[in-house]
Amino acid sequence: MTQKQISKYNSKIPPTWCKGCGNFGIFTALKAAFAKLGFSPDDVCLTYDVGCSSNMADFLNTYGFHSLHGRTISTAIGLHLAHHQFPVIAIGGDGGIYGEGVEHLIEAARGNFDITAIVHNNFLYSLTTGQKSPTAQKGSKTKSTPFGTLEVPFEGLKTAIIHDPSFVARGYALEAAHLTNLIVKGVKTKGFSLIDVLQPCVTFNKKQTPDWFKKRVYKLKKDGYPKKEALKILSQDPEKLAIGILYRSDRKAYHEHLPQLKDKPLIKQSIEKIDIGKLIEEFI
Ligand code: SF4
Repeated sequence: MTQKQISKYNSKIPPTWCKGCGNFGIFTALKAAFAKLGFSPDDVCLTYDVGCSSNMADFLNTYGFHSLHGRTISTAIGLHLAHHQFPVIAIGGDGGIYGEGVEHLIEAARGNFDITAIVHNNFLYSLTTGQKSPTAQKGSKTKSTPFGTLEVPFEGLKTAIIHDPSFVARGYALEAAHLTNLIVKGVKTKGFSLIDVLQPCVTFNKKQTPDWFKKRVYKLKKDGYPKKEALKILSQDPEKLAIGILYRSDRKAYHEHLPQLKDKPLIKQSIEKIDIGKLIEEFI
């Protein structure tokens, strides 16, 4: 993939992330995935949370909606149901998607809505300068936990897998080519796709550095595993971080159950024959 092929997805604003931030790798992988999928900048819509990850709203030249904190997935589901033939990708961090927005993650997996969620997982709230997030390891010392985090980390991938969505994977921000393929496969999959991306925050996370990840990250060999095995891979030694496709299911996507959407998306349907008069009368 050449620089020229992916530069059309750059907005006029250059990224403002810190030098060496893992967000650059995810940004590159996303653009390369769009090029591989044959998307023009107006063929895809991204929704954004609040955080360093979601500052990407300013840097990427596609349709986009910068939502509230924790609301990137719910916004993506709304957009998707209005136009289910249009690809929608929800961007957010571990704080927004596994913390404030965790209920929406569970709903997306339960309903198997045909969207892709990409979690920039750096174990911290970095935009607010380094407080522990839901994925912070037990004992980790952060600005908000100077004596060590007391809780065990939230397991986003396991939570998704037990609710049986179509696609669950983990990537690593500094393995951009590998991540590109995960994004391509996730977007192509019908149903909910969750891609958790391990991401160094070089400014505030002095433990999970690129060197730390290098010793722990390894690639899975298969294109998905049975549920029990996928959960086992995620329950192994925490010093081993598997990346690749963990789980796939062939469950129908939410909109495929709805006869109203069989012929065309909601936004392409005529509202002329819809009479909401009776409904309004109930409120008068
Ligand atoms: Fe990246 Fe961390 Fe800087 Fe945010 S604070 S831009 S996550 S390195």
